[in-house]
Amino acid sequence: MPETVLPEKTPQKALDAPHAPAANGPIAASAKVELPPAAVNPPSPSPGLPSLPATKSHFDAGIDYELFLDCVHCGLCTAACPTYAELGNENDGPRGRIYLMRAVTDGRLELNQPVRRHLELCLDCRACETACPSGVQYGRLIEPFRIAMERAPTGPEGAADGTAEGAAKFAAKSDDWFHRWILFGLFPYPARLRKALAPARWAQRLGMIGALEKTGIIRLLPPRLRQLVRMLPPLRRAEPPLPAVLPAIGKRRARVALFTGCVGDAMFRATNWATARVLQQNGCDVLTPPQQVCCGAIHFHAGQSEPARQFADANRAAFDTRCLDAVIVNVAGCGAMLKDYGHHWPDAEQADRAAFAAKVKDVHEFLDELGIVPPTGEIPLVATYHDACHLVHAQRIRAAPRRLLARIPGLELRELPESELCCGAAGTYNLTEPEMAARLSQRKLNNIRSTGARAVITANAGCLLQIAREARQQGERLPLYHPMDLLDRSYRGVPLER
Ligand code: SF4
Ligand code: SF4
Repeated sequence: MPETVLPEKTPQKALDAPHAPAANGPIAASAKVELPPAAVNPPSPSPGLPSLPATKSHFDAGIDYELFLDCVHCGLCTAACPTYAELGNENDGPRGRIYLMRAVTDGRLELNQPVRRHLELCLDCRACETACPSGVQYGRLIEPFRIAMERAPTGPEGAADGTAEGAAKFAAKSDDWFHRWILFGLFPYPARLRKALAPARWAQRLGMIGALEKTGIIRLLPPRLRQLVRMLPPLRRAEPPLPAVLPAIGKRRARVALFTGCVGDAMFRATNWATARVLQQNGCDVLTPPQQVCCGAIHFHAGQSEPARQFADANRAAFDTRCLDAVIVNVAGCGAMLKDYGHHWPDAEQADRAAFAAKVKDVHEFLDELGIVPPTGEIPLVATYHDACHLVHAQRIRAAPRRLLARIPGLELRELPESELCCGAAGTYNLTEPEMAARLSQRKLNNIRSTGARAVITANAGCLLQIAREARQQGERLPLYHPMDLLDRSYRGVPLER
């Protein structure tokens, strides 16, 4: 890694720049959210973020240093950043975070608790990539940096000094009960997750979840568990699993395999069925390999690279891409992860992972390119479309879902203000950072209300859960749909349930 001394003026000037007001202004004062002081501290140099003289850093995330240099500190990304929009703090915007990561890499800044906090608060939504005119690949910075940050033990003051005391004080995510048992132990395994959800389904049917809220007993749960209970959608008896092969309807145009996901398979199997039927209607043979596993995003975005690699290699083995035109994904977060398999692990298998990734297509992208058979069933609905971050920013797919939805007779689509601003779901961010996630979902709901739409359409399981939770908590009835749910109903002529 080159020994690079940051120019004193430019980055600091960038960090000291006056904070632009949030695009929508701060959310209502009633939304009391306590964030740690570190998150609202002024930028370095400050008591929270001490600068060190430039030295050879002992912190190496393996990031190509040129990627840092792509950033010219113009600040054009800041207005697009949800955490900056909410907090107005340069350290909680992309330019500031790039500066922090580079300064730690240079050995000019300790990887202390405030620095960690600013970086952990990032949603990895990659809105900054879409906004950046210089082509900064922010995801290639924050993702390896977080993995290295997770490995770096922290000292009593939060410095990466490698002491056992420090490591115990700031436990790694793999040692945290919630990550270990829930996020890593349950979520990536759909069969386990379905079993774990069975008592919750009964509790919902008996009205016990509502009673927990009404009596306030829910507040006795640990915050992350409380958030998880509130996220649960109305749970129904699961549909049967998709068969290994569903044949094309009409003239055969393609042979594809469906990636069914982990949370997707456990909670949104009906949407997987809808996706498969839409593909069939469009002349696709649909294969569903039973050996497929979680995409690995839950682990990877929590800094656990090795388990994520194992998931990636299991998926590579499960899908025989030689006889497929595409591997189809209907969840934006999974699609972004699968498409990145070729970048994450530079080892002997990298080329094979890249070949697998090259076959991955988001279902909207695939159908839009294929050209869809026009759906004919009327869906009389006024709805708005929320752009899932991992579709619009990570995969740059914005127009295709809108074009597909526009083909549904009777569906009126109203544009959503700030449709590309994260709703706070961001994978498991809404469970690990509930305060910021709640601010963003409130902001999203306010924008949805402003459209007058009666329903929301979005193409990501996390967004569906997050926006539905916010609406439920605000006492609103707001139906949410995946685009495939609506297309499927239109093809089959099945009206919406009211
Ligand atoms: S990331 Fe891009 S938009 Fe943001 S400050 Fe750097 S160069 Fe400018
Ligand atoms: S990834 Fe999202 S939250 Fe993180 S810096 Fe970029 S825009 Fe902000």
